[in-house]
Amino acid sequence: MKLICYGSSSRGNGYILQGERQTLLIEAGLPLCNVRQYVKDFSTIQGCIISHRHGDHAKYMGDFMRAGITCYANDDVWDNYDGRSLKRGDIEQPTATTQIGEFKVVPMFAHHDVPCWAYLIQHPEMGTLLFVTDSAGFNCSFNTINHIMIECNWSEVCLQLAIDEGRTNWYVAKRSRDTHMGLEVLLAYLHSEECFNASKEVVLLHLSHENSDPQQFQKVVSESLNKPTYVAEYGLQIDLSI
Ligand SMILES: [Zn+2]
Ligand SMILES: [Zn+2]
Repeated sequence: MKLICYGSSSRGNGYILQGERQTLLIEAGLPLCNVRQYVKDFSTIQGCIISHRHGDHAKYMGDFMRAGITCYANDDVWDNYDGRSLKRGDIEQPTATTQIGEFKVVPMFAHHDVPCWAYLIQHPEMGTLLFVTDSAGFNCSFNTINHIMIECNWSEVCLQLAIDEGRTNWYVAKRSRDTHMGLEVLLAYLHSEECFNASKEVVLLHLSHENSDPQQFQKVVSESLNKPTYVAEYGLQIDLSI
């Protein structure tokens, strides 16, 4: 199983889980041509799971569906989507388990300023992957997590520096703290749960352009958790096989 990232920020998010036979897309925040670059045979795509309605995650959902890709999203995404002639996706309850081809997907509540879902994704080739983005915090416990993809949008040091240098203001800082996960919260969560002990790596998602330091975040997380750590950015590819 290969993870491919073709965007991970407020400018657009898109991830591909590419198995030997089947592919699952995560987020539709960037044009479909990005997917075509990596997926030659669209018939392998089982669907696209979307976290929430914001454009950087859902803007191109209509294009995805017109290309025949079933999109899965919460009611709020559908309620705020204007292409109503399209076929509705079919995840209806946040606690339900949904089988999408060989992928088993469980949506969970994240903590954002609009209804947002995190996902637990299981596949025989990769085990269990936790995907959390645009969430001020997270506190779910699990059995064993093999792979972690989690937001690391800001840190206290970077936020303070951005305010001091006039690159951001208190309102933006407050919104970051209230709706996105910072480095300190991420580390506290990953250290607090035994389910993460055996995970193979950590992929940091959705770093803020103003309030993050990708190299420093990567180093701090990798040293603190003693795991290979990656910053998701265009073109990143990781083997998620177990
Ligand atoms: Zn976002
Ligand atoms: Zn958002």
